[in-house]
Amino acid sequence: MAVLTFLCACSEVEDARICAYRGGRQAAVSLTFDDGLLDHYTMVAPHLDSLGLKATFWVIGKSIEEGEYNYARRLTWEMCREMSDRGHEISNHSWSHPHLTELSEEELREEVTRNDDAIERATGKRPITFCYPFNAQNELVARVCHEGRVGTRDYQEPQGQANTHSTPETLRAWLDKVIAEGEWGVTMTHGIHSGWDQWDDEQVLWDFFKDLASRQDEVWIDTFAAVAAYRQEREHCTLRVRRYRKCIGIKPTCDLDPALFREPLTAEVTVDGRSRLLEFDPFGKEQFFEL
Ligand SMILES: [Zn+2]
Repeated sequence: MAVLTFLCACSEVEDARICAYRGGRQAAVSLTFDDGLLDHYTMVAPHLDSLGLKATFWVIGKSIEEGEYNYARRLTWEMCREMSDRGHEISNHSWSHPHLTELSEEELREEVTRNDDAIERATGKRPITFCYPFNAQNELVARVCHEGRVGTRDYQEPQGQANTHSTPETLRAWLDKVIAEGEWGVTMTHGIHSGWDQWDDEQVLWDFFKDLASRQDEVWIDTFAAVAAYRQEREHCTLRVRRYRKCIGIKPTCDLDPALFREPLTAEVTVDGRSRLLEFDPFGKEQFFEL
């Protein structure tokens, strides 16, 4: 939790804190899908859309242009644009999926920037996150891939059946643990019927989505970019909370770049013994909420 300063106009703001996750939920989950596979458009996104869930799709520009990679069919740029327009995050998994740790700095920057440019051309949105191919990183790779971003994927929970052997029980146990421990769970899924770690029984994944959607009072489900930004903002924001005669005033101070970090934060404020969840703009002026 961030350090807070209290300068109450009177002593009746008993407590104020920035919530760990949006809406005061106790945990967060970001569903992420690797390698820009066609299955993600034809199978995954329709299931997510029917439940109102937003996810992150890490794409490889070169394979989109070639239509295939490792024998699996890929998304098209038009599909990326459609998914982005529906609220999903289309983000950077490098231009050609090399081991970034084996490249010169110049080659590394080319891999990152070329894919950012292609995704921005297709979707109108420049990626603000990054996913390392093969999860391989070192100091140089991490430094370059963090530039101009709210976060990079540094840990993940694999989900799939050919390699990971996910079952309804393992998926349920993982979600229970994420919620119980107040974590940010980040899933990593590849192919459904093509690509790495395919599903024999994809209904297991759709049922997991349904389970997740039914627990949204406990867990915040959003794109990788949204949760990564929220977590940084909550650590870089301090509040001055005042009680006025008819309202509560929240004056935030945040030292991050507002051009990059744009997620509203949730504060829990207690006044007259009553706790309230208030959503505020961490870069805004003093914001007022009716008592
Ligand atoms: Zn990959």
